[in-house]
Amino acid sequence: MSDEKFDIPFKSPTLPKVLSDDSKLKFSCYKGISCFNACCKRSDITLVPYDVLRLKQRFDMSSEEFLDKYTVPYPMDQDQVPGLKMKVHDDGACPFLDEETGCTVYEDRPTVCRYYPLAVLNIREKDSSEPQIQYSLVVEEHCKGHEEDRELTVDEYRKEQGCDEFDFYNKEWYELILKKKSAGPGVGKPNEMSLQLFFMASYNTDMFRRFVLSDKFRASYDIPAETYEQLEKDDVALLQFGYKLMRQALFGEKLIPEQPGVWEKRVEERRAVWEARTQAEIEARNKQVEEQMRKET
Ligand code: SF4
Ligand code: SF4
Repeated sequence: MSDEKFDIPFKSPTLPKVLSDDSKLKFSCYKGISCFNACCKRSDITLVPYDVLRLKQRFDMSSEEFLDKYTVPYPMDQDQVPGLKMKVHDDGACPFLDEETGCTVYEDRPTVCRYYPLAVLNIREKDSSEPQIQYSLVVEEHCKGHEEDRELTVDEYRKEQGCDEFDFYNKEWYELILKKKSAGPGVGKPNEMSLQLFFMASYNTDMFRRFVLSDKFRASYDIPAETYEQLEKDDVALLQFGYKLMRQALFGEKLIPEQPGVWEKRVEERRAVWEARTQAEIEARNKQVEEQMRKET
């Protein structure tokens, strides 16, 4: 098995045992349990794209407002691919926690909150193009849910917590991250523009929509008018379109057709830049040689 893993994401100690969908889990969490809210008071919540979409829709906020008020970016790897975490209070408490009632965004709570106390491991086996999902159990001292007398399978727990919908809309994004990690240095460090596109398409839906509907974008990509109409009003469709565009930008996969001649135009523009740069280098070198000669005579 490859050791390439993408952990969705707990900073807590995990038991090394790997679980699959039909593994048994002994756990129960409910209002009134002695540790109620303990987990949310020391939260470390990584957000993935569909989490951001659900929360910003819940608050009827623009994605810019939501990102600014509730999140903080962090680098997910050595290439500075941007991840996102929830901003927490100084004492570590989640901003959506209410002491009395618990989670105030329960129906739209993020993926990591749904899965807890499970950590999700996306693993790619050697010689396989398909990522495999496995789980590990997070056991923390403050969490008394493990002492409850209820046993169920991982799959039953996932269904109970409504994980399916979140996994469905984040799946292509996880695959993208895993592919980037598995590819290693061979795929090269993404340039600044690719990283900006990654952030915008993953988390800043409203800015990404303006970008996709802009004249410049339309002049570059050959997309049917009905697709543009859908992207204008459907956040989820926009997110899924973004996954394809990111694969195009990061791995050169041709998933979104370009307008005829765009590639040639880009090459021509780059050629002009290269020629100007080469000319500047030659002139600088000549100047250096002239100065050197002047000093020596
Ligand atoms: S979003 Fe809800 S469940 Fe998740 S840490 Fe915050 S209060 Fe807890
Ligand atoms: S049982 Fe665990 S998950 Fe539930 S409230 Fe307590 S600490 Fe949080």
